[in-house]
Amino acid sequence: MDCLFCKIIDGKIPSKKIYEDEQCFAFHDINPQAPVHFLVIPKKHIATLNDLTAEDSATVGHLVFTAQKLANELGCEAGFRTVFNCNEQGGQTVYHIHLHVLGQRQMSWPPG
Ligand code: 5GP
Repeated sequence: MDCLFCKIIDGKIPSKKIYEDEQCFAFHDINPQAPVHFLVIPKKHIATLNDLTAEDSATVGHLVFTAQKLANELGCEAGFRTVFNCNEQGGQTVYHIHLHVLGQRQMSWPPG
């Protein structure tokens, strides 16, 4: 499968890895939009949020819990933003679901 993030998980494309376990992989975004900006992705290839099934519930919960743990470890105790973009109008550019975690700057609303 020709998926950029599957290749990052497999180490075929280098990344700045933060954390890895049997279910997920976390790494710094190559084009950070905040002083802290990392992505938490499932090891299972799931293209978009629309492709989730009930069987993926625990995996998605694990992504969120991992984001919380790592955000606090990386100095975002004052707060952080989490984002899943879905499909073109949602701003998704890589079709392997990923939870963005951004922190260490003031966030605003609405997002662009
Ligand atoms: P999306 O727009 O799909 O929600 O987010 C994709 C994210 O992946 C972007 O923030 C982009 O900077 C990041 N990204 C794209 N290619 C690479 C890469 O090769 N390495 C890393 N670390 N991040 C990437």
